[in-house]
Amino acid sequence: MKAIALISGGLDSALAAKVIAKQGINVVGINFITPFSPIDKIRRSFNLRKFFDNLGIDIMSVNIFDESLEMIRNPKFGLGSNLNPCIDCHILMLKKAKGLLERLEASFVITGEVLGQRPMSQHRHALELIERKSGLQGLLLRPLSAKLLDETIPEKEGWVKRSELFDFSGRSRSPQFALAKELGIKDYQTPAGGCLLTDAGFSLRMKDLLKHNLKALNNNEIEILKFGRHFRLGDQIKLVVGRNQEENEKLLKLARNRDYLFEPQGIPGPVALGRGRFDNKELVNLACRIVSRYSDSQYGEPVKINLRKKGLGFLGAKEFSCLALDDKTLENLRVRKAQK
Ligand code: SF4
Repeated sequence: MKAIALISGGLDSALAAKVIAKQGINVVGINFITPFSPIDKIRRSFNLRKFFDNLGIDIMSVNIFDESLEMIRNPKFGLGSNLNPCIDCHILMLKKAKGLLERLEASFVITGEVLGQRPMSQHRHALELIERKSGLQGLLLRPLSAKLLDETIPEKEGWVKRSELFDFSGRSRSPQFALAKELGIKDYQTPAGGCLLTDAGFSLRMKDLLKHNLKALNNNEIEILKFGRHFRLGDQIKLVVGRNQEENEKLLKLARNRDYLFEPQGIPGPVALGRGRFDNKELVNLACRIVSRYSDSQYGEPVKINLRKKGLGFLGAKEFSCLALDDKTLENLRVRKAQK
């Protein structure tokens, strides 16, 4: 008997997979990768594969970038406190898992969901909706809350012993920590809030992108949202300013043909990436003044900005000498709220 476990990288999905593996079921973990996967240093340094190796569970990664972009364009079941369409997201991942059942010769799917743990996607109605919409009726087992939910086919058929499943509910994490201890699971990631769509700052930048570049939504646009200072200079015109050397280098890497690159000359300062048509002097001057603002120049001192256009139609370097933009104008241009 084989089961597919959805693996988020958090403790709950690891517990659910281990509880079922302990009953002699061959569990294969699937870690779905989306453009919104968390990027903080702690989570980046966590080695998911090694962690599951230690639990004796094989995992595979499945990229769902395109489907995630489609989902964020058009979520059907609403959003959480930020731009997180958690119900749609669960349905998407479970539909994908359902599609893998035959290929992996697995009979059912496991998740680490806990009844009542998350306000949007883990109350009873949401769990039922997710099961129904994913097409996995009766074949979706949530081992950590199974005793509080309807019996599933794996339990009815005796593939899994219901008596060895759990009745966890609510937001307290104590039962999970106790179970981890009992199962000898160590070095797990501390509970995290979810993907980047649950982050308020990222969500604001994403909303701005959806409003202005809905058709052009792609992974490059989303990568750029993950760092830097973002300024909206026009409907299709945006400037992103690096905050440190690492971000400057990332911007240079992510620049596409026809993007503009602004850099102060003869004085330390950021790289800025301009996307859109900087086709008039006022706009170019505005961008240069923003870049000057973040250079090491004294306020009021003119700064030379080197401007390049990347790729086809390369115009060569140009120099603009300009004064740093004042803070009030700067703040009005900053992407910090859903702009009307
Ligand atoms: S937090 Fe992000 S990854 Fe997790 S279910 Fe919600 S939208 Fe999906």
